[in-house]
Amino acid sequence: MEFFYRCSQCGARFEIGPDRYLCPSCSAGQEEGRPLRGILEVDWTGEPAAGGAMPDLFTLLPVPREYFAPIPVGHTPLWVPRRLRDAVGLPWLYLKDDGANPTFSFKDRASWLVAAAATMWGVSGVTVASTGNAASSMAGVGAAAGLAVTVFAPAAAPRAKLVQCRQYGAEVVTVEGGYREAYRRSLEHTARVGGINRNTAYNPLTIEGKKSVSFELVAALPAPDWVFVPTGDGVILSGVYKGFRDLHRLGIIPRIPTIVAVQAEGSSAIARALERHRVDASPAGVPLFDDYAAHTIADSISVDVPAAGYYAVEQLTRYDGRAVVVTDDAILRAQHELAATAGLFAEPAAAAAWAGLRAIRSEIPGDATVAVLLTGSGLKDVDAAARLFAST
Ligand SMILES: *Cc1c(COP(=O)(O)O)cnc(C)c1O
Repeated sequence: MEFFYRCSQCGARFEIGPDRYLCPSCSAGQEEGRPLRGILEVDWTGEPAAGGAMPDLFTLLPVPREYFAPIPVGHTPLWVPRRLRDAVGLPWLYLKDDGANPTFSFKDRASWLVAAAATMWGVSGVTVASTGNAASSMAGVGAAAGLAVTVFAPAAAPRAKLVQCRQYGAEVVTVEGGYREAYRRSLEHTARVGGINRNTAYNPLTIEGKKSVSFELVAALPAPDWVFVPTGDGVILSGVYKGFRDLHRLGIIPRIPTIVAVQAEGSSAIARALERHRVDASPAGVPLFDDYAAHTIADSISVDVPAAGYYAVEQLTRYDGRAVVVTDDAILRAQHELAATAGLFAEPAAAAAWAGLRAIRSEIPGDATVAVLLTGSGLKDVDAAARLFAST
């Protein structure tokens, strides 16, 4: 197998290496305050050894297995929620519990690959800007890998996530002014001190690392019809598509499942862009993304500018995906329903995926195999979870 980066916009090929993030010519067209241009994705030639059977994930990753830190990322439990199945009339409903990852969120899937690449390249430092989970994840996985991790996080990030970062031994720089400022400072830091940067979508390995969930779903189910994905920057969504695309290309699955991007009403840039794109596909029309200040209780999907916005809209369009928007109220109710009916306590961003299923339940055929990605633990932000009870 040979692995390389390919620009998702112009198709140009690049060698995979520690200094390569975006396509230089496409990212030269970057507009201020808009999603990233020139996002790279991992592509490959050759055939994995599996010979038509489900391939081992590591044969389809650009970093050999021996570089991965000894920490149990992925292979998260797939729940069979009997009471929820009855409640919504979906006998083939599954919950993918990614709060069971080492740092309690889906982000570990990306951090694990980034850390492995750093180890392979002999790089000792990793920097990341994050509103919380990507930071605590990089800190934890980085600790297991023996990397020095520097985190730039908004001062308003949930306390548990910042405490996690410090416990894992990361250097934490809190930033006034939100993610955009944290992002800017993190790039500056990487340029100054070297090492690699894990910023979501900017580092192509963040997308690639997240594809592992699709491999796990196909190994278990084996052909999910619908997958609900809580969506902020659109990188989990992109990774989920990447995994299914790899498996489709190898003939393992007959088609790409219907992916549903679920967004909070107060942070719905991708849903709105998809709508605009479908209504008016002409480039002379309304811009897909505009200036926007996100506000939602689900901090992990609260983003002003979705880093992978253009990329996500392109894939949702190509594979006939959906976008659903849910209110904060619906998210808090979904969080409680998951906890009280299935026994799974998920953070608000994760619970949004369940709220999304609830919102479009009538459009899902009763015999469909449905997976809901529950991307983070409820203990990550107990203040948000307490709100439901404070208001009653
Ligand atoms: C990051 C995150 C998401 C959203 O992922 P994006 O790539 O930003 O769309 C959803 N849920 C949780 C718990 C997260 O940490």
